[in-house]
Amino acid sequence: MDKKPLFKNTDSLSELGEFGLIDRIAHLFGRSGNADEIGIGDDCAVLPGGDDRSLLITTDMLIEDRHFRRDWISADDLGYKSLAVNMSDISAMGGKPLYAFLSIGLPDDLPLDWIEQFFRGTHALANIHGVKIMGGDTTKSPGPMVINYTLLGEIKSENILRRSAAEPGDQIAVLGNLGESGAGLKLLLEKEPPFSSDEQKLIKAHNRPHLFVDEAQFLAEFGGVHAMIDLSDGLQSDGGHIAKASNASLVVESENITITKPLQNVCQKHSWSHLELALASGEDYGLLFTISREKAEALKHNFKAKFGYSYNIIGEVEPGSAELKLLNKGKLFDIGKMGFDHFRADNQTKK
Ligand code: ADP
Ligand code: MG
Repeated sequence: MDKKPLFKNTDSLSELGEFGLIDRIAHLFGRSGNADEIGIGDDCAVLPGGDDRSLLITTDMLIEDRHFRRDWISADDLGYKSLAVNMSDISAMGGKPLYAFLSIGLPDDLPLDWIEQFFRGTHALANIHGVKIMGGDTTKSPGPMVINYTLLGEIKSENILRRSAAEPGDQIAVLGNLGESGAGLKLLLEKEPPFSSDEQKLIKAHNRPHLFVDEAQFLAEFGGVHAMIDLSDGLQSDGGHIAKASNASLVVESENITITKPLQNVCQKHSWSHLELALASGEDYGLLFTISREKAEALKHNFKAKFGYSYNIIGEVEPGSAELKLLNKGKLFDIGKMGFDHFRADNQTKK
């Protein structure tokens, strides 16, 4: 085994950052990645599922006062969201969610009515998509509430959509309303109720994110989609993950990014930059994917015919640089380093 210290030349966790830490963990344990097994580094782990199928596994944890505050989100919405964020990762691979396990640490003064509403929220979402809760673990927490879902899904192996498969010439596309969730969080953090109906829509986008479960499976089955990731940390950060894994450059034209009316209105009201929110704020749980030029027209046509709306094409994959580049009317735009990282100093107080 490699005995070299893991954290040489790094002073602190905040300097290392969430993704730096994951890199070190992957270095120690190995980043398995043969044809039918994917370990650390994509939205889900992939294991052989028998015949031509693969098993997808993902796990995501929500911690009270870090990811949510009980006075900002209803128990029902939290029950929905804690399963939804995992379903989003199964969708990011193009898969079908199937079985879930729920581990919870609960403070013992939690009202029973709150707990019931939490489970009703989860149950409603699980029912819509035929997900079964198969087990979990329950403990008392001496501090904040901790909620951890592990979700299993499946996919035909040849349809798996990895972060690493983007190719120069691909179109870059987005499903979902970029920046809405981040604006909803910003409202909760910085403003007091009452909230306008536009503001309430953004808060809802944050508390009860829209999922693309059927769309993701369609994209994987139709063919022509190369790489995909879900948007949990923001377009710049998540686009950067595809760019890095694919060793290509994701060139996005800011003028092409659709900004919804509620987001435009609320940004205007509070003098916020909608572009910054669309690029740098997380938890939209939309999908970012790249499409081969040859299949682009057919996919666009068939997607529209099936779902009655279109995805948003925002740019093109180019060779080199392994990062996301933003253009404004064709000119390079310096966006610095944005996106959510759990240990970065400026991301410490999400409450
Ligand atoms: P996502 O945002 O899609 O949930 P993350 O950024 O949380 O993905 O994780 C990226 C990759 O790192 C995933 O493959 C995940 O399984 C892996 N990972 C995250 N935390 C750990 C950890 N503590 N130990 C091992 N692997 C981890
Ligand atoms: Mg993800």
